[in-house]
Amino acid sequence: MIVRDPVRPLRSTSVVLAIGANLGDRRATLEAAVDDLRRTPGTIVDAVSTLIESVAVTLDGADETAPRYLNGVVLARTVLDAKSLLAATQRIEDAHGRVRAERWGSRTLDIDIIAFGDTQSDDPHLTLPHPRAAERLFVLDPWLEVDPAAVLPGRGPVAELRRVLVGGAG
Ligand code: ATP
Ligand code: CA
Ligand code: CA
Repeated sequence: MIVRDPVRPLRSTSVVLAIGANLGDRRATLEAAVDDLRRTPGTIVDAVSTLIESVAVTLDGADETAPRYLNGVVLARTVLDAKSLLAATQRIEDAHGRVRAERWGSRTLDIDIIAFGDTQSDDPHLTLPHPRAAERLFVLDPWLEVDPAAVLPGRGPVAELRRVLVGGAG
């Protein structure tokens, strides 16, 4: 029998995940990863953006010769704590053949936690919100598609961050 503590009911946290892939059947992998997220205990997927394509960015900058990325954003709610959600997303990456080689290297699947509720943390193992989200159109654009009123905790409206990033154009 499951007895819920009436004083502390299970509370879920709204989370924003960025998914990306530039190796293998990118679309199939990203769709399978979303299915895996749906199967993650205590987690509900509310929205999945369109997948958009962009050039790979490596430590040397934009690399037109590297396989291009397919990226999207997933909105979800979870009763997991942030570290458990990170562990769950890393298990999903591993299950889809993610190899952890050099930083920003090509990969079959990447899942980043962009925001975990309003949590702000500078822990390098889990920095929240994701410290580079505001610099990435491949995060901001699909996020705005599924939530035009999105706010990056501590940084402000995503639509405004996007305007700054594109320098007033678009
Ligand atoms: P970037 O973080 O710039 O997008 P990346 O996704 O290529 O780079 P990874 O190699 O996937 O980086 O992750 C390196 C480490 O980043 C992970 O082991 C994880 O502990 C840490 N990390 C810190 N903050 C986050 C976050 N918000 N979401 C996911 N991983 C994070
Ligand atoms: Ca990433
Ligand atoms: Ca990552």
